[in-house]
Amino acid sequence: MEYVLQVHGVVRRRPEGTDNPEMSTGTIDVVADRVEILNASKVPPFLINRDENIDELRRMQYRYLDLRRPNMQQNMILRHRTVKFLRDFLDGQGFIEIETPILFKTTPEGARDFLVPSRLQPGKFYALPQSPQQLKQLLMVAGYEKYFQVARCFRDEDLRGDRQPEFTQLDMELSFVEREDVMRLMEAMVLALCENVVPHMPLKYKPLRRLTYTEAMEAYGSDKPDLRYDLEAVDVTDIAGRSAFPIFQQNAEAGKPIKVVRAPGLHVRRDDPAQILSGEGLKRQMKELEDLVRTVGAKGLAYMALPLDETGEVKGPIGKYFTVEQKLALFERTGAQPGDILMFLSDKRETVWAAVDKLRRSLAETLNLADPNQLAFAWIIDFPMFYWDEENQRWDPSQHMFTMPMPEDIPLLDTDPGKARGSQYDLICNGYEIGGGSIRIHDRSLQEKMFPLIGQSMEHAREQFGHMLEAFEYGVPPHGGMAWGVDRLVMLFAQVDNIREVTAFPKTQSGLDVMAHAPSAAEPGQLEELYIRLAPLPEKGETAAP
Ligand code: ASP
Repeated sequence: MEYVLQVHGVVRRRPEGTDNPEMSTGTIDVVADRVEILNASKVPPFLINRDENIDELRRMQYRYLDLRRPNMQQNMILRHRTVKFLRDFLDGQGFIEIETPILFKTTPEGARDFLVPSRLQPGKFYALPQSPQQLKQLLMVAGYEKYFQVARCFRDEDLRGDRQPEFTQLDMELSFVEREDVMRLMEAMVLALCENVVPHMPLKYKPLRRLTYTEAMEAYGSDKPDLRYDLEAVDVTDIAGRSAFPIFQQNAEAGKPIKVVRAPGLHVRRDDPAQILSGEGLKRQMKELEDLVRTVGAKGLAYMALPLDETGEVKGPIGKYFTVEQKLALFERTGAQPGDILMFLSDKRETVWAAVDKLRRSLAETLNLADPNQLAFAWIIDFPMFYWDEENQRWDPSQHMFTMPMPEDIPLLDTDPGKARGSQYDLICNGYEIGGGSIRIHDRSLQEKMFPLIGQSMEHAREQFGHMLEAFEYGVPPHGGMAWGVDRLVMLFAQVDNIREVTAFPKTQSGLDVMAHAPSAAEPGQLEELYIRLAPLPEKGETAAP
């Protein structure tokens, strides 16, 4: 297996009755008269022609063999077709692709920079771009009205299934546009892309659904909710706050919300839908869910489990505190059906959000609610400009520092920055953020106002971003844009749950390339040339020096 051969012979139709419909070449044969071995192969560490469960580290170590496997080939082709479609689409709209440097200066998008030491300027470092944000804005200053780039971006952060230290964005920027213009074009592009590249995957929303940040958080506890399934949190503060359950009474009085997530059929036995769970089974299941929401700070998870018919009773520890009318009002508000479980969350708003998000994700898995074939693209808009960073006592931009506030909210920057909304728009799908963008600040004085708000001294800001501020004094068209995460998009199209499956040579969760052994130690001579000396490394178990 895996030898590379050259075969001379005659191609012929297979004799009657010997066709193999399983093979793309199943109707022909080559009648060979000479076979030459061009290259032999050792026995490969795993089977190439069969998709079986292979240890991922082994796949990474022999990635060139892993990439030979048919489903990886399919993924790479899908990626190519996606990017090709997007390039052609933008070209058709009059965009031009412009490359921007990889060796640059900090371009913050909320992660750590990767630094590259300079030999020619000893003691100085380039930063790899977290995105081409500043450069594409400078291209707008330069008069290139429609720019795009299939851009490699670098962010030094903890890795997850949907994150790699380097990843690919479809990066775009346009001049003389408002939020609606960008969103309309992007929506047309996403619909055309899906229709052409994944016509077998149905779109849940067409046109795309739009939710404000607050609507998304209140209903789904996340700014990138998976909208393939409902599991919406419903506010029941008015009903539950009047029950006799003391915690609900106190919380409602203190202005804390009480919300219900209705899990359809969760009270029903998975192996026998005609029966409800046993008392023990119900308790065990609810304890697991309670432990889950406790991980994000919720203090508990009260519940009511509904019977299958009128002869049964509502189970759960809080039922007794509710009058019949209150229960009926709850069932009506939440759309409860026989066999459902209503789960109650009450806490600070943010804690309830985090718990709702956890619950939804877990319930969708238990109840198998998410169809992997469906795509639920939607827009999230009206984000807050900033989130409060309690630890550092400053505002953090919810997108980046170049985002324009909503025009009517600009005065709030001086009075109540926490209330200001940004002109940001995120494209989400199936629980992932697929893209984000905004209309940008193009006015020097407004841009300068951002730095103290986000805890940067003017001196530091001028040092890091002086070139932007200066450029803003030479006739800047209003502009805005967006970037899409190509890896995540292709991951959804390929119906896999990890971007490593759609990246030819990815890193492991700990940032390693286990095939080529990167990162690796530098030669002493290289370090000398760079005037770099290594400090002693931390002992095992010790944390690294700050
Ligand atoms: N630079 C942004 C990002 O990388 C995208 C944008 O605002 O266009 O998320």
